[in-house]
Parts: sequence; structure tokens; C-alpha cells
Amino acid sequence: MTNLLDLAPDALETFFADHDEKPFRARQVLRWIHQRYVDDVAAMTDLARPLRERLAAETFVGGPTVIRDTTAADGTRKWLLDAGRGNAVESVYIPEDDRGTLCVSSQAGCALDCAFCATGKQGFNRNLTTAEIIGQVWHANRTLIADGVTGPWIEHGRAPISNVVMMGMGEPLANFDNVVPALRLMLDDHAYGLSRRRVTLSTSGLVPLIDRLRDECPVALAVSLHAGNDALRDRLVPINRRHPLSELLAACARYLPSAPRDFVTFEYVMLDGVNDQPVHAAELVVLAREVSCKFNLIPFNAFPGTEFTSTPRTRIVDFQRRLQDAGLVATIRRTRGEDIAAACGQLAGQVKDRTKRRLATRIVPVAVH
Ligand code: SAH
Ligand code: SF4
Repeated sequence: MTNLLDLAPDALETFFADHDEKPFRARQVLRWIHQRYVDDVAAMTDLARPLRERLAAETFVGGPTVIRDTTAADGTRKWLLDAGRGNAVESVYIPEDDRGTLCVSSQAGCALDCAFCATGKQGFNRNLTTAEIIGQVWHANRTLIADGVTGPWIEHGRAPISNVVMMGMGEPLANFDNVVPALRLMLDDHAYGLSRRRVTLSTSGLVPLIDRLRDECPVALAVSLHAGNDALRDRLVPINRRHPLSELLAACARYLPSAPRDFVTFEYVMLDGVNDQPVHAAELVVLAREVSCKFNLIPFNAFPGTEFTSTPRTRIVDFQRRLQDAGLVATIRRTRGEDIAAACGQLAGQVKDRTKRRLATRIVPVAVH
């Protein structure tokens, strides 16, 4: 049985071609699933009955199974979704004045082990499928519409989710083959129809895959920088040991000509006494000469067992001012949904099978801290 949520527009066309059907059938089915959130083939009334019967026999629309659904005081809503075998992932809806953003997960856990990240701390379990990734957008829209959620952008006839950020659990570029079809569905006019600037992928810096994303599906790019020198970044973002800053900045510069925005967003988590000193701001100013960029300073969000604390607000503002005084654009990310552990870096879901990772760590000790 094929889960129709797994099929990007081109794959759905191939599916219908293989069934001797016209390509426009794919567009009809896309609209039923991704614009009307139908999960029953029998309800797709503009398809001839024999085709519906065939689809019902061979396919299904399998959305996520919700384990928990929590809403924060500020309206942020988090869904804990079953990922099988005791694993779960999270997606987070963040309503703002003029948009509804969904923060989407791409993996159960993450292998990259950034020192300050709750997802990284739990190790890697598995890649999500395309259906599990796009299913988060499908499910959020479907649920929010059913709940009668309103907002100025929704009243203009649009879906509740107007923006997607691939900033949930996992490293999206490490699951490239499932993430890109999901991105294509987000962008397709017969599915979610989001413009490329409203879809942002955040990466910790998998350089070769940044190039591939540019060639195959360039969306807005955010890069988790967190340090302006290699020694510090090696400690905070271990993938830097494989792809150091010079390589990463060059990849960003190569990306921009194809990007929907003319800058890369550098995310920078503010860790008290670690990467928040005036000298660190000065390093960023130098580094920003290499590529057109904007900085997004993220107050560190604590999670159980972390050794870090956030830079106090006054010093974050001071750090921001140092960047601005040098002519750079720097914003401070508003922390949302903290009371339901839905803020950046707090998404832990559940990953039960951590055996492999623990063994690997024991055999090859990696000095992260
Ligand atoms: N794996 C991708 C996307 C997911 S993380 C990446 O690393 O970019 C999304 C953002 O949250 C990243 O910038 C990440 O560095 C940041 N982040 C991780 N842990 C955090 C924490 N505890 N507090 C604040 N931000 C955090
Ligand atoms: Fe993975 Fe991103 Fe967390 Fe690093 S910050 S461990 S890349 S999810």
C-alpha cells in the first residue's frame, strides 16, 4: 500500500502514468489531500469511480498519530507525533500577527550532537519519511481549520500555516532525500503553494548538501553559526570539524545567487560566558564581510541536564548593538512556547533506542565540552 502523503508532485504524476492515467489526475489528488485535507479516497468525487476504487485498493492517506497536543499561554501549540517503536517527534505552531509558522521536524533525534541542543543530547534514531515530514504541515492545517482557528492571513482564504521553518528536531540536510520531496509539496501550487521565501531550512552546516539544495530546491537558508572562530565552533557544533567556517561561508556565498532572499540568516544561540563576549561580536563582524547575512540571536533555552545558561537579556541587547554599530542587521528571537518546552532546542520528543549511539560514544570518545 502506498501512502499518498509520501508522493511529491512528480512522483504522483509517475504513479498515475504507471496506471495509464493522465497527469492532471495527480493535480486533482494533490488538491484533495493538501488543500482540502481529505484522507479518504472515496471522498475525491471528481475522480471516476473505477479510479477511486483502484486507489482505495492500492493507496491510503496516512497522516500522523498524535500522542499529545499542548497549547502554551502565548498560543504556541505543540504536537507530539508517534514515530513508531517508542519514538516520537514534535512539531510546533507559532501564531504571530500576520502569519502562522510551523516548525517542522525532519529526524527522530539527531546525530550531530551540538553541545547545547536537547535533540542532539538524545542521539539519533532514524530519518522521517516524506509522509511524516509533510504530514506535520497537513495535520497542523487540518486540525487548526477544524478547530476554527482565525487570523488575518487565514481570513484572506489562506491556510493557517503560511510559513514553514525546518527548525524542529533533526538536521534536515542529513535527511535530504525525504526532506526535498516534502519541500516540493510545500511549494507546489496544487499542494500548499507557499512561496520559497516562506519556507526556511536551517542547517548546522553540511556543506556539500547546501550545494545540492541550491541545485535541487533552493528555499530560504538559515545556518546555525553559534561561533565566529573554528576552535569554539568545533566544540559547540561538532560538524564544524568536518566543514570549518571558511568552507561553510563559501557554501553560503554559492547558495545566494539561487536563493529566494538575498541574505543568509545566521542563527546564534547566546550562551552565557561562552560565545557572548565583545571579542565574539567582533569576530562576527569580520566574518560577515564574506557573505550577505542577517544575524538572529537566540536566547539559550534550557533543558534538563544542560550545563549552559543563557546570556542575560541586557548583554544580549549589548551584543546586538555591537553588531548593529558595525552596520549589520541583528534581531533577537522572541522565545515562544517555553512553558510547554516548545522553544528552540527544547524539542526532545522521545527516542528510546539510543544503544548504538552510546556504544559509539564509548568506543570513540568525542570531547565536545
Ligand atoms: N538541525 C538544524 C535545525 C534544527 S535546530 C540546525 O541545527 O540548524 C534549530 C535552531 O535551534 C538551530 O539554530 C539550533 O542551533 C538552535 N538551538 C538548538 N538548541 C538550542 C537551545 N537549547 N536554545 C536555543 N536554540 C537552540
Ligand atoms: Fe542536530 Fe540542529 Fe540540534 Fe545540532 S542543533 S544537534 S544539528 S538538531
